Amino acid sequence: MLATLYILSAVLHLFIAMSMMVLLLEESHEFKKQVVALEDTHRSETSFFQKKVKATEERYRALFDQASEGIFVVSEEGRILELNAKALRMLSNESRKVIGTDLLPFLNLDETKVDGDSEGGRIEALLQADDLVITSWEVRSTSVDLDGSRMLWDNQKPAFQIFIREQTNKAQLEQQLRQAEKLSALGQMISGIAHELNNPLAAIKGYLELFQSDQNIPEKTRGDLKKVMKESNRAAKLVSNFLSFARERPAQKEVSDLNALVRRVVEMREFECRIAGVVVDVDLADDLKATLIDIDQIQQVLVNLVNNAIQAMLDTEGPNILKIRTFSSKGKSVVSICDNGPGIPPDLQNKVYEPFFTTKEAGAGTGLGLSIAHSIMRDHGGKIEYRESEDGGACFVLEFEGSETSPVVLKGDSDEELKPIDKGTKKAPVQVGNILVVDDEESIADLLCEMLSILGHEATACHSGKHALSKIEKVDYDVVLSDFRMPGMNGAEFYQKAIEINPSLGDRFVFLTGDVVNSETQEFIGSINTKCVDKPFQLDAVKVAVNSVLSASDSVMGVS
Ligand code: ADP
Repeated sequence: MLATLYILSAVLHLFIAMSMMVLLLEESHEFKKQVVALEDTHRSETSFFQKKVKATEERYRALFDQASEGIFVVSEEGRILELNAKALRMLSNESRKVIGTDLLPFLNLDETKVDGDSEGGRIEALLQADDLVITSWEVRSTSVDLDGSRMLWDNQKPAFQIFIREQTNKAQLEQQLRQAEKLSALGQMISGIAHELNNPLAAIKGYLELFQSDQNIPEKTRGDLKKVMKESNRAAKLVSNFLSFARERPAQKEVSDLNALVRRVVEMREFECRIAGVVVDVDLADDLKATLIDIDQIQQVLVNLVNNAIQAMLDTEGPNILKIRTFSSKGKSVVSICDNGPGIPPDLQNKVYEPFFTTKEAGAGTGLGLSIAHSIMRDHGGKIEYRESEDGGACFVLEFEGSETSPVVLKGDSDEELKPIDKGTKKAPVQVGNILVVDDEESIADLLCEMLSILGHEATACHSGKHALSKIEKVDYDVVLSDFRMPGMNGAEFYQKAIEINPSLGDRFVFLTGDVVNSETQEFIGSINTKCVDKPFQLDAVKVAVNSVLSASDSVMGVS
C-alpha cells in the first residue's frame, strides 16, 4: 500500500514536472516568437531609416551639386575634403580626384596675402583676400568672389566651408560697356577724320583727273601727274580702309581674294611698321583659292594680328621681321603671320583667346583682339592657331575653307585708270541735263561743275542747303548732286525740304558722302534708296551716277 502510494506520488511529481516543462517550453517558444517579431520590426525600421538617410543624403547632394556657387570643404591645411559639381567645373576637372589636393594652387594668389602662420591661418587669410582669380587645370582663368566660415567635418574635425562665385556678370559687363563706349567714340572720331580728309582728297583727285584729261599737257608733266595721282589714290585707299574697319554692320560674306586683303592690310600698317623698324616680308601664293569671308571682319583679324606682332617686337633687339604668307593646304586657304618677337609661353598659349586677357600695360591692351579673332574665325567655319615661329617668335595661322567661285574685286582696290575726258571736243554725253551741285566745299562744287560742263551738262554750284533750296523753288533740275555732311542743313534735311518744294526731285538725287561709318547716314540713304557716290570719288563714278538718274527720268517720261 505504501509502495503504491509512493509510486502514485512519484507519477504525480513526474506529471507536474512534465507539465511545468511543457509550460516552460511554450513560454520560451512564445518568447522566441516575440523576439523574432521584434527583430523583424527592428529590421524594417532600420531599412526605413536607412532609406530615409539615403534620400536625405541624395537630396542634400542634389542641392549641393545644383548650387550656382562653387562649394568647397577644406581642412585647416587647405586640402580639399569635399566639393560640389560647380566647384569641379571651376577647376575644369571631371573626376573627384582633386579631393585630398591643396585648393590654394588653383587660386592665383599673391602668396603674401595668405601667409597666416596659425592653424588654418592661410585659409582665414584667404577669406579676407580680394581680387581673386581662379585658374583651372585647363588654364581658363576666372575672376571670383569668395567667402566662407569655420565648421566641423566628419569626426568633428575642424575645417572650412568656402563659397566661390564667378564674377562673370557685373564686373565683366561693366568692362565690356566701357570698351563698347570707347569703340563707338573711336568710330565717331574716324568718321570725322575721314570726312575732313575726304573733301581735300576728292578735290585733289578730281582736279588731277581733269589735268590728266587735257590732251595738250607735255609728256613729262603727264608722268609727274600720274605719280601724284598714284599717291593720292594711296591716301584715298587708306582713308577708305579705315572707314571699312570702323564700319559696324552685320556679317556680309562674299567670295574674296585673300591675297588682295592681305596686301591691303600690309598697306594699312606700312607706316606703323616703318616707325617701329619692322621689315615686312610678304609671300603670297599664286594658287590660293578664293574664300567666302566677311572682308571687314577678316581685315579686322589681320590688322589685330599684325598690330600684336609689331607691339611684341618693340622690345626685341636686332632686325624685326614680320613674315606674312598665304598658301594652300589640303584644299584650305591659309594665312600665317609670324614675328621674331618673344613668342607666347606655353602656359599662356590657350589663355590669349580669352576675352580681356592681356599682358600689356593698362591702357595699352584691351585683351579683346584675339578673342574677337577667335570668334570671327569660328563664325567663318575656319580656325586660328598658335604655332611657334621658325624665327623664335609668335606665329598665328588662319585657316579658311577654299571656294571654287571667282573672287570679287575688293572695293577701292581697282587700279583701273579713268578714261580721259576729251576736253577739246566736248563730246555730248548720252543725255544732258540741268544739274544742281551742292557742296559746302567750294573747291569740290567748282570741280564738279567744271567736269559736268565738260560733259555737256549745265551745272550750277551752291555752297549750302539753304541757297540750293532757293534755286529749287525757281528751277526744276534734272539732277541734284549733293554732299551729305554739310554745316547748318545736312543732306537728310536738305532732301526732305527739297521734295516738299518739288516731290519729283526725290528720284533725282545723288549723294556724295565720305560719312559711310555713321549708321544714321547709312539708314537714311538706305531708306530713300538714292544713288550714292563715296568720297573721295572718281569723276567716272559721278558721271555714271548722273547718267543713270538722267536715263531713269527719260524712261519715265517715255524718252528712249
Ligand atoms: P591685347 O593685344 O589687347 O593684349 P589680344 O587678345 O590681341 O589683346 O592679345 C592677348 C595677349 O596675347 C597679349 O596681351 C599678348 O600677351 C599675347 N600676344 C598676342 N600676340 C602676340 C605676339 N605676336 N607675340 C607675343 N605675345 C602675343
